[in-house]
Amino acid sequence: MLRIGLTGGIGSGKTTVSKKFQTLFNIPVIDADEINRDLLTRERSAYTEIVAAFGHAILTHNGDIDRRLLRQQIFSDSQSRHTLEAILHPRIRAEISRQMSTLTSPYVLVVVPLLVELNMQDQFDRILVISTDVRHQVTRVSERDACSQQDVSKIIASQIKPAQRIQHADDVIENNGDLTRLDQQIQDLHEKYMVLST
Ligand code: ATP
Repeated sequence: MLRIGLTGGIGSGKTTVSKKFQTLFNIPVIDADEINRDLLTRERSAYTEIVAAFGHAILTHNGDIDRRLLRQQIFSDSQSRHTLEAILHPRIRAEISRQMSTLTSPYVLVVVPLLVELNMQDQFDRILVISTDVRHQVTRVSERDACSQQDVSKIIASQIKPAQRIQHADDVIENNGDLTRLDQQIQDLHEKYMVLST
């Protein structure tokens, strides 16, 4: 099975694109963000390690990990970010591998927003990057999340530069047009991946 790692900046269209592969061609999608969220729940060993490393102050009054607080902490302190990555990263990798091993499909899409930042290229056969102009990212995310354009711009500024991501790309989807334009690119890529997977 061909393993495609799909990545892109905030609001570049990762969910939109992966859903289209799923609905148009029945291609399975693994979502690293979903795995990440699941790892933070109380039943998981990562939870215990995170509480040990960050203290009980990181918990809400219900005893759940306060993801917003955790995000703030790692945003402002790179040591904390490394600590959290050391706990989560190997588990995310292992869970992606486990989920992939259960699939029978010509290819699979694995959506990993921080694929390049976390150096996860080796886990995939090809890297697909969604490339979207900043102005589209800003308008689409601020409309989707009902937040200010300034806030979105700040997040974009904190992410790696698009050119760095593109350097690792085997395939690129340009998502600066309408959804029909996106469909055409997805159709073309699907055909390519079907050939490559045989
Ligand atoms: P995040 O990084 O926040 O997880 P994402 O990369 O998954 O975001 P999407 O949620 O797929 O991005 O897209 C961001 C927003 O832009 C959504 O509201 C989506 O419907 C819209 N969108 C994506 N592509 C297009 C397009 N080609 N035309 C119009 N709207 C689009």
